[in-house]
Amino acid sequence: MNIEIEKSSGFCFGVSKVIQMAEEILDKGDKLYCLGEIVHNEEEVNRLAEKGMIFIEKEDLLKLKDETVLIRAHGEPPSTYEICEERNISIIDGTCPIVNALQKQIRNSYKNSDTQNDQIVIYGKTSHPEVKALNGQINNSAVIIRNSEDIKKINPEKNLTLFSQTTMDSEGFTEMENQIRGNAKEHPGVKVEVKNTICKHISHRQPGIVDFAQSYDILIFVAGRNSSNGKILFDICKKENDNSKFISEVDQLKEEWFDSVANVGIAGATSTPAWVLKLVKERIESFKII
Ligand code: SF4
Repeated sequence: MNIEIEKSSGFCFGVSKVIQMAEEILDKGDKLYCLGEIVHNEEEVNRLAEKGMIFIEKEDLLKLKDETVLIRAHGEPPSTYEICEERNISIIDGTCPIVNALQKQIRNSYKNSDTQNDQIVIYGKTSHPEVKALNGQINNSAVIIRNSEDIKKINPEKNLTLFSQTTMDSEGFTEMENQIRGNAKEHPGVKVEVKNTICKHISHRQPGIVDFAQSYDILIFVAGRNSSNGKILFDICKKENDNSKFISEVDQLKEEWFDSVANVGIAGATSTPAWVLKLVKERIESFKII
């Protein structure tokens, strides 16, 4: 049986950077809190928790004083920085530089807009931490859309600037753009500005994963249950190869999946550690059917 791990799977540079920052502190034996899951991957979260990292939610900040808190790659809204300042909490800022630049772009767009006539629209998930952080830059005034139904929330009489959460899918973004532009035609004078802010580490993976998924008898996709990017990439795999399986942990592998299989592909999200992909490969190799 031939088993291959997709070359582009594993942490993107934004996630690698924040994990490295965390490990440098934990290796010194210093206490470190992390706001939310450092990465949407349970196995990596557990590994860092074993090294001493303490995971907290935003409301827990109100119970801390004089501590050190790590901000993950998704970033945080300004209110988090304000709470930390009030409570003398030191911040280790692991916001991905790409997310940081997007936050700045959204702030500038808002600053140069006229709230009576302009609106900012973000293609993303309302509950996603990156979207909350982006929306927080502009007093939570953005219209968040994810599908055609949500487009009804947009005021058709106002100009709009469309951004995207960095981990959304390109196809969905283009669909939203086309519908918005189509609606705007019915309102002459309304300006539509589109900024495709999907991270290149995500969009560039999509064509590669299509080829990869088509090339194997079975495709094992490994990602955390909360990973947006994992969900998107897995959906692509499933479309290309019906025999694609989603797992979050090595123990979810089932030996019977590999009966009469010659080629196995393993892929992961930008939040899936390379060591987990390797463990998956080793577990499949250990099955007696090989
Ligand atoms: S996916 Fe892109 S924007 Fe998000 S953390 Fe990774 S490098 Fe940064």
